[in-house]
Amino acid sequence: MTNGKTQSGIGFDVHRLVSGRPLILGGVEIAYPRGLQGHSDADVLVHAVCDALLGAVGEGDMGDFFPDTDPKFKGISSLELLKRVLRKVAKRGFRPIHLDTVVIAEAPKLRPFKGAIRRRLARALSVAESQVNVKAKTTEGLGLFGRSQGIASYAVVTVQRKGMR
Ligand code: MG
Repeated sequence: MTNGKTQSGIGFDVHRLVSGRPLILGGVEIAYPRGLQGHSDADVLVHAVCDALLGAVGEGDMGDFFPDTDPKFKGISSLELLKRVLRKVAKRGFRPIHLDTVVIAEAPKLRPFKGAIRRRLARALSVAESQVNVKAKTTEGLGLFGRSQGIASYAVVTVQRKGMR
């Protein structure tokens, strides 16, 4: 598989919604009375993207590189963590060529922010907007997401060996 032209990875993450934190999804701050709890800025979507990228190049997961016990990652922008992940991807000889994502949140309604998040993620990955997709789903009021206790994200990334078309 590692000799193939493209490889794919999947990522998943969940963070709890709490008062007194900004809500940041895909590097975009969203006006909402609550935000996600976490050691970094808790950008659950970017975390899923990071894990998908690491998976695509066989490099484990975010916890291997950015332990939440390390004070140097406290409050860090997840886009900064993504940059570091992308450097690992490049070192392995790959670059991202496609990203698809799902954000599961009952509230806030993410439709108005999907375009901005897509642009932000495309810029972060150095790909065109057409190579990134963002989907927002609710769970129809069911379960911990339906009760707005948290937000989850999935990401699937495809990377291509550099120098190949
Ligand atoms: Mg996380």
